[in-house]
Amino acid sequence: MTRRRLPLGHLPTPLHQPSRLAHAMGLDLWLKRDDMTGGAEAGNKIRKLEFLLADALESGCDSVITCGGIQSNHARATALLAASLGLRALLFLRTTGKDLNPARAPLVGNVLLDKLAGAEIRLITPAEYRERTRVMATAADELRRAGMRPYVIPEGGSNGLGSLGYVEAMAEVRKQLDLGLAGGKPFDLVVHACGSGGTAAGVALGATRFEVAPEVRAMAVCDDAQTFEQTIERIIEEARSIDGRLKES
Ligand SMILES: *Cc1c(COP(=O)(O)O)cnc(C)c1O
Repeated sequence: MTRRRLPLGHLPTPLHQPSRLAHAMGLDLWLKRDDMTGGAEAGNKIRKLEFLLADALESGCDSVITCGGIQSNHARATALLAASLGLRALLFLRTTGKDLNPARAPLVGNVLLDKLAGAEIRLITPAEYRERTRVMATAADELRRAGMRPYVIPEGGSNGLGSLGYVEAMAEVRKQLDLGLAGGKPFDLVVHACGSGGTAAGVALGATRFEVAPEVRAMAVCDDAQTFEQTIERIIEEARSIDGRLKES
C-alpha cells in the first residue's frame, strides 16, 4: 500500500460564498466547489482516485475494475482518468432494466462518457450488485488469466486509501482559512452528501485533524443511517491503519 498521490484534480477548488442564498438562509454559508475539480472527470471522486490510481500504477497494474449505479459519477470519473493514464477500465453497472446487453444501454449521461472513454461496461442486476465484491474479484481472476494485471476499486472509491483524498481536501480548506478566506476561522459544521462513505470518513478525519470544523454531518442519499455508520467506521479504521498521522484524531 502506498500514499503516493497523482495530481489529477484541478486543485485547490474555490471556497465560495453564495451571498444571496447565505442571506436567505440567515447563515454564514460557504461552498467548497468540488464540482470544479476538473472537466468531464470532475466531482468529488477524483480526490479519492488520486490515491487509488497512484496505487494501481505503483502496483504495475494495466487495468482497473470498479462498479456503481448505471449513471455512476464514480464509474465515469474512473473511466475517463483510466483512459488518460493508459489503463483499461471495466465497469460493473447496476441496472433495474431487464436487458443486460451493454450494447443496448441508452447512450446518455455518464454511460455515454464511459463509452467515449473506451471503458468496457457490464450490466448487472441489483441482486448481483449486492455481491459486487465477489463479482469484481471473479472478473479480476478472469483478466489475470488473460495475462492482464487488474486493480479493483470498490464502489465510490470508498476504502481507507481513497478516503485520504478527503483528508487532503480538509488540509486544503485549512490552508484557505489560513489565507484568511471565509473569515479565517474554523466552521461550526461541515455538511455533505454521503453515498458510499469514503467522503464522510475522510472529511471526519481531516476536519478534526486540521481543525476545519468540530462537527461533520453526512446526509445519506441512499441506504439507512445505521448502515452508513458501520461503513464509515470501517473506512476510518482502514485509513488510520494506512496513515499513522490519523491515529489519535
Ligand atoms: C459520490 C458522490 C457523493 C458521495 O460521496 P461518497 O464518498 O460516495 O459518499 C456526493 N455527491 C456526488 C455528486 C457524488 O457523485
